[in-house]
This record gives sequence, C-alpha cells and structure tokens, in this order.
Amino acid sequence: MRYDESGDRPGRQGEESVQDDPEHREEDAVVGPRAKGDATIGASIVARGLTKIYGQGADAFHALGPIDLDIRPGEFVSLIGPSGCGKSTTLLLVSGLEPYSDGSVEIDGKPLREPISDVGIVFQDHLLLEFRTAMRNVMIQQEIRGLDKATLRSRAADLFERLELTGAENRYPWQLSGGMRQRVSIARALVHDPSMLLMDEPFGALDAITRTQIRHDLEMLWLNTQKTVLFITHSIDEAVGLSDRVLVMSKSPGRIVDEIVIDLPRPRPAHLGDYPEFAGYARRIYEIFEKLGVYRFGQAGS
Ligand code: ADP
Repeated sequence: MRYDESGDRPGRQGEESVQDDPEHREEDAVVGPRAKGDATIGASIVARGLTKIYGQGADAFHALGPIDLDIRPGEFVSLIGPSGCGKSTTLLLVSGLEPYSDGSVEIDGKPLREPISDVGIVFQDHLLLEFRTAMRNVMIQQEIRGLDKATLRSRAADLFERLELTGAENRYPWQLSGGMRQRVSIARALVHDPSMLLMDEPFGALDAITRTQIRHDLEMLWLNTQKTVLFITHSIDEAVGLSDRVLVMSKSPGRIVDEIVIDLPRPRPAHLGDYPEFAGYARRIYEIFEKLGVYRFGQAGS
C-alpha cells in the first residue's frame, strides 16, 4: 500500500466541515453534550489481511499479520500480547502514520490512504512540551490545526474538569505528577474532538494505585464521549477492566489468536475481582500465553 495513491482523505469529521457547517452550534462541539446526543461519534476500524514488513530484501522483517480487525463505532478494544508482537505497529498502521505492506484498512468505510487527522494518540511517554503550561500543551492542537480558539478552549476546560485537572491549567509538566501528565496528554488527544483514540501503553509508567484511578477516569470519559478506542496494554487487569473486547496477540509476527468479549457492567470497580467472571477472563488470557510459550512456569524443584 502506498500513500501517494490518489483518493479521498479518510476521516469522517474533518475540522473544516465543523467550521463550515452553518448548522454547527458551538455548544454542540463540547465533548460531553455533543457525544451524548450523537450515536455516530466513534469511527469504525476495519482491517483485512493487515500485514507489516519492515525493511526490504535481506533486511526485511515480518513484524505483523496478517490480521483482521472489525472495530465498531464507539467500541473500546484492547490489544494484549508479548513485547515485540506488533501492537504498536498495529496502532501506527490504523492511524496511517506507518504504511502497511499488504491488506487493507477502512476508517468509517473509507480506505486509509494517508495519515489521518481525525484521531487522538496517547503514548506511554506523555510527550508534553516542558516550556508550555498544561493548558497551552492541550491548546497546541488549536494552533497546529488552525481550529476555532473559543471552541477548543471550551472543550479543553470541559476535559480538564472531567480528567480531574482543574487547577492544573497553568502548571508546567515538571510541576505535575506522572498521572497528571498522562491526564494532560489524554486531554490533548481529545480536545479536537476526534472520532478515535489510539492509546499505546498509556499507563505503563504509572504506579499501580494511580493506574487504577486513571483507568476508571478514562472509562468514565469514554462512556460520556463514545469515541472508538484502540488500547494497547501488557496488563490483563487493564484490558479486562476497560474493554468491550480484548484481542490477544501471538508472538512476532503478531497475529490475533483469540478474541474475548468482556461482558461486565460499567463502570467497572477498582477491584475487578468483585466480579466472579473476572477470574475466568484473566485465566483465559494466561492460558493462551502459556500455550504460546509467552509464560513458562514450572513446578518447584523442576
Ligand atoms: P510491540 O508494540 O508489540 O512491543 P512493535 O509493534 O513495537 O511491538 O514491534 C514489532 C516488531 O517490529 C518488533 O520486533 C520490533 O523490533 C520491530 N519493529 C518495530 N518498528 C520497526 C522499524 N521501524 N523497523 C524495523 N523493525 C521494527
């Protein structure tokens, strides 16, 4: 697949269309109210035979696939698998940031042909600019994308409130805890109101207590906005705690070897063990990893 092919720009909700739409009311652009009344807020992600080979010739390395994805609008899907199996690669492919080698990707029914703008991405590293305050880090989206300042300011204020960041607006990243920095990077990923949120181990560097709280806060935010979320994690608790579905990947070249529908009520509690079903979901993932040789646990003395 080549991004220099001509074709429609993927993405269902370009910023131009929002600004040019005379019917568009400013209050509709605020994340919460807009999402509640709009069932199509999340984009679908469909991939067929998605494959990635890095390099060429003797240096070619088969990193991923083929894999298929069928992610519904507004669904929360996690990818879990051992290091190096191609999780980050999958995320880069569906955002268009990295071209795929074979197969196809459609975002909301449109073939993916170039990097998409209708997306928010959160990485393990918060990637905030140290010389900008938290609010100015979030508002960088307005500057880069040339969006309406008042609309984005209003969305940013809403996100700061939902993410328990009120009071942190004028602080610099070095004045914030690790958890707060990740919250700011989530606000930055959502302030332009994208239809999908891609998260690559976003809580991987946080302590367990902070992780549990931020997991809950992300779940609440997602429940209110219904963005489509593709979430990468090494944590079984996090995958089960957040997802509608967990896709389990094999070792490199990564393939999807199991799909687990997480049928638990929301919002989910801090202690997932409150659900008897939780142990079953977690056991299933551990068993797959044992079968694939990701885990090799022996008996004492063996
Ligand atoms: P994961 O996110 O599951 O840890 P990645 O998607 O980062 O895995 O990487 C999958 C495999 O592809 C790894 O073996 C990694 O070393 C390799 N890889 C990732 N990016 C590149 C690249 N740009 N060039 C060559 N190999 C790469």
